[in-house]
Amino acid sequence: ESLKQLQMQERAREQKDNMGTVGCAVLDKKGNLCAGTSTGGMTNKKYGRIGDSPVIGAGTYANNKTCAVSCTGHGEYYIRLGFARDISALMEYKNLSVEEACREEIRKLSELQGTGGVIAVDAKGNIAMEFNTSGMFRGFIKSDGEKEIAIFANE
Ligand code: ASP
Repeated sequence: ESLKQLQMQERAREQKDNMGTVGCAVLDKKGNLCAGTSTGGMTNKKYGRIGDSPVIGAGTYANNKTCAVSCTGHGEYYIRLGFARDISALMEYKNLSVEEACREEIRKLSELQGTGGVIAVDAKGNIAMEFNTSGMFRGFIKSDGEKEIAIFANE
């Protein structure tokens, strides 16, 4: 019974994720990095729950020295990992690229059996969009007009 409930919650969460969360990570022409995340939270969440999105360092983070990060997924795991801030720390302390840092953090999320994704941009305009779900609505545009939108993995 509880497994069935979990599966239903997971399905509801994935459906919600496909519709609810909006995040952005931006590098401006002066070199400022900035991130924002908007969400309705998890489906059937407990009254008063605060997810990772408004918690700076968990679901949202920006630092001009490293990157801007916005996340979507099961917020409790993102809070536990200090997810967004950890990506910045991996870049700062281990010299990882923004893509390597996002992949490493998604690996840690998977290890905890958490699901979700992340978008990030670094101080040079390199972009990373990583996730361990079947898809994540995502896109980017650069100042020269280069752009991309995608939903599923391997697109
Ligand atoms: N991360 C959000 C939360 O746990 C859910 C989402 O991705 O919108 O509240």
